[in-house]
Amino acid sequence: MEAVWYDGYTRASAPPGVSWSFSACPSKPDDPRTAVVDQDGMCYSGRTYLGWACPSEVAWRGSFGRSAFAHELMHYAQGLDGVHDPDHKRLDDWKLSIEMDARLIGLGL
Ligand SMILES: [Zn+2]
Repeated sequence: MEAVWYDGYTRASAPPGVSWSFSACPSKPDDPRTAVVDQDGMCYSGRTYLGWACPSEVAWRGSFGRSAFAHELMHYAQGLDGVHDPDHKRLDDWKLSIEMDARLIGLGL
């Protein structure tokens, strides 16, 4: 968490709470990946909403770096800045989140 939130995203405030999903996607029985499943059965690698008590949900895919952990933390960081970027148009932000994935993998996380 610290490597991404404080070092990578240079945030001083508290990081979001993160819950992990270990569920399969019910609408994609042939997909072996875990998913965050919403109330309509839609599947995601992760979701973040600042209004939730636990703002980020992430599908656990074997390690932090291979899950959408850094990605969802970026959505949270953007949200704190008043930015809503569900279509990932802020390319520098998303490049940084991919770099964070690589850093986590490099740390064995
Ligand atoms: Zn996203």
